[in-house]
Amino acid sequence: MRLLASLLTPCPGGPAFLTLLRRASSGTMQIKDPLNFWGGRRVELSDVTGLEPVYEPATGRVLCQLQPCKAAQVDEAVRSACSAFSAWRKMAGMERARVMLETARLIEKRREDIAEVEVVNNGKSITEARLDVDSARLCIEYFAGLATNMSGQHVQLPGGSFAYTRREPLGVCVGIGAWNYPFQIAAWKSAPAIACGNSMVFKPSPVTPVSAVLLAEIYAQAGVPEGLFNVVQGTQETGTLLCHHPSVAKVSFTGSVPTGKKIMEMASKGVKPVTLELGGKSPLIIFEDSDLENAVRGALMANFLSQGQVCSNGTRVFVHRPILPQFLTEVVRRTKAIQIGDPLLEETRMGALVSRPHLDKVLGYVEQAKKEGARVLCGGEPFTPADPKLRNGYYMTPCVLDNCTDDMTCVREEIFGPVMSVLTFDTEVDVLQRANDTTMGLAAGVFTKDIQRAHRVIENLQAGSCFINNYNITPVEVPFGGYKASGIGRENGQVTVEFYSQLKTVVVEMGDVDSLF
Ligand code: NAD
Repeated sequence: MRLLASLLTPCPGGPAFLTLLRRASSGTMQIKDPLNFWGGRRVELSDVTGLEPVYEPATGRVLCQLQPCKAAQVDEAVRSACSAFSAWRKMAGMERARVMLETARLIEKRREDIAEVEVVNNGKSITEARLDVDSARLCIEYFAGLATNMSGQHVQLPGGSFAYTRREPLGVCVGIGAWNYPFQIAAWKSAPAIACGNSMVFKPSPVTPVSAVLLAEIYAQAGVPEGLFNVVQGTQETGTLLCHHPSVAKVSFTGSVPTGKKIMEMASKGVKPVTLELGGKSPLIIFEDSDLENAVRGALMANFLSQGQVCSNGTRVFVHRPILPQFLTEVVRRTKAIQIGDPLLEETRMGALVSRPHLDKVLGYVEQAKKEGARVLCGGEPFTPADPKLRNGYYMTPCVLDNCTDDMTCVREEIFGPVMSVLTFDTEVDVLQRANDTTMGLAAGVFTKDIQRAHRVIENLQAGSCFINNYNITPVEVPFGGYKASGIGRENGQVTVEFYSQLKTVVVEMGDVDSLF
């Protein structure tokens, strides 16, 4: 009933998040509303110990204080999710789909507000933030479609007996997110979870806690049962409580490899399934016969989106020796032309990195690369925009490193910043062996006009998400995820239904029991 009522009632125009101030440049948005959300509303915690400052990366100013959830609040949120689950799991796929489509409609309507919040809390450009919001919406639309189509199998057995399978939800799923795509990650996890009939408690990164709560509000406005999608804020302590909670059926995690290992260990104690979307050190291979213009564009897409803070980035760019000089000239020319600055301005292509410690870490990788013999062709320096408001923001110039070798730290470790390492190769066999010489396997790409070579190379690359003649394209209709230490399970695409549901087999006897005893 609540569902139908909400669909018929026009959406109220002024939810809490619209109390945020709109403005044309960084430095004025205030986040005043509580950031924890369960039972269908934002929750102000009475225990305010352990507050964590949340920053605006573009300006370095404190945006708000994070109220981390302790055991009692985690328990409240999980109980709220349990109660929503008991109603939601019984609804038909069509009913679930209807609320999800309404959610998508509301996201579309608030696209600009959500994107702006994302920019203020994360530092990425408004252009990219809008695309992230679109991806979140598309994901919810896509899984709404799948929700209508979930069914089991019917199997005929001897003597008229038969069996059937039911695809059933798991229960309360936990989502734990990274800071690089805060809104999109919350949608990529919650959409398949709720399409399958589960409820979710989501913990955003403490660095970017703001936008997941907007998603919670929108789900609530669209008419999901109270408690279907909850947000608990906190650091690793809160995450640990969630993973160990006895009423949690599954953990879906996006973050670094070391944390992913801990999540898996914790989940194993309760024999809970996990989805792990972890880090990468992905190769991008550019052959002599590539369309050079496209290959250069691809290399920039593979390295500088979101200030280089993208898990699937192709940061090891292997270039066929004969085209190395032209490639370097063009890649450096375009990198130097990238507009850095206020992420809220339309013309900005690179905003601020997510935090001061992270900026320092990335700059440290550039220094280390120089010490190990890499040559900086451009960038790799702290950057101070002319606008005085942005003076304390976390900016750096995008960096291209040449003269790299396979054993260098910049080639082996995930930097998670705007640093491209260029390597050279002579033969396909050699480059494949070097491309696969990593413990990770999230993504990989190849540029060539030779169609047979393209497919042969992809077949031999040890990576879950591969691209031919493009890079970092992630349509929600296709699975995304990693090989090796880059993860377990997939997000998006039809297969993800299997990671958020379980099969029940029912055998039906139509005759007498043929007992052996
Ligand atoms: P992180 O591992 O430090 O933290 C991720 C999340 O885990 C945060 O919410 C954090 O609070 C929580 N957490 C930390 N320790 C925990 C613990 N012991 N128990 C439970 N939760 C805990 O990662 P990050 O710095 O936020 O994000 C960057 C990393 O994420 C990079 O390695 C990047 O490649 C990866 N990433 C992967 C994908 C993907 O889809 N494969 C997408 C985005 C980011």
